[in-house]
Parts: sequence; structure tokens; C-alpha cells
Amino acid sequence: MKKYFEETLPDNYEAAKTVDASNKKTGIIMNLCALAVMAVGVLISFLVIKPRDFFGNYDLIEMAVVCAVLLVYIVLHELVHGIAYKLLTKRKLKFGISLTAAYCGVPDIYVYRRCALISLFAPLVVFTAVFGAGVFLLSDAWHKFYCAVILFAHLGGCAGDIYDIILYLTVFRDPETLMRDTGPKQTFYVRRK
Ligand SMILES: [Zn+2]
Repeated sequence: MKKYFEETLPDNYEAAKTVDASNKKTGIIMNLCALAVMAVGVLISFLVIKPRDFFGNYDLIEMAVVCAVLLVYIVLHELVHGIAYKLLTKRKLKFGISLTAAYCGVPDIYVYRRCALISLFAPLVVFTAVFGAGVFLLSDAWHKFYCAVILFAHLGGCAGDIYDIILYLTVFRDPETLMRDTGPKQTFYVRRK
């Protein structure tokens, strides 16, 4: 079976790209992308679902529940990354949260492309399915709308993961590409030519 990671960086590899969410500029850009996805998603959801009495009939308890779900979601999202990394590598994980991002990394090793992609896709797939199912299955229009808001907050919150996935699908297509994921910062390593 193919390996999912290397303990140390092999001699013939060099760093090719770094994505650092703890960097102020990167953090701001990612959060702006997340907000844009959320804003467009919520607008579309509103126009499609048309919850009644939008201007004047707020249910504060339901809105508090939405906020609570979002906070729990942030923790669960990172946990799902962690479960994927743990199953594939059995190594020590690093969880954290900063002003610009929550994160989960596996800082002591170098993971191969397939391992990184499984961990990157895991929360994206799981929570898109969960919240997507909610949007389709809930019958009350307001509940549907709240669920859509959470779905798009989730998709926006995946901006950093999606950016790494796009890099893997475009620039780093070699399966031998290694990544060191310290949590907020991912460094891609490729074989020296
Ligand atoms: Zn993530």
C-alpha cells in the first residue's frame, strides 16, 4: 500500500508554495472570500426560499440557535479534519483558533497529496451533505432558510480548504507532492528537478 506520509522531508524535495492563514493579508483575503460566498448564498437562499415576514418577524431564540450551531460547527469542522489525519497517520494533531481562522494540522510529518486531499475534502463533503439535507428536508420555510444560511457559512468557511484543493488540482498534481500542515500554515514540497 502507498504511504500517506513521510517522517522527515526527503533530501530531493524543496518548498514550492506556502499558504499561511496566520499571515494578516492571507487571513483577510480568505475571510473576505468567505463573506462574499455567504452574502451571495444567503441572498440566493432568500430569493428562492422566500421566508415569510422577513422584515419584522424575527424569532430571537431561533437566531440564537443558528449562532450556537455555527460555533459548534467550527469545532466539528476541525475535528473532522483531525479524524481524517488521525486515521491516515496516527500522529499528533495540532488544533487551534485565531482571529482569522480555526485550524487542525499534523505538524510533525510530511503528508502525501492523497492524505492532504482526504483531510481537506472531509469536512467539505460531510457538512455540505448534512446542511444540504437540512435545506431539502425541512418543511418550514424559515428553518429551511436558517439551514441555508448555515450551509453557505460553512462553504465560505471552507475558503482556505478549497484554496488548497484548487492548488492540488492545478499546480500540485504530482501524487508525490508532500505537505507540511502545521494548522494555520501549509507548505507544499515538490521533488527537485
Ligand atoms: Zn477546514
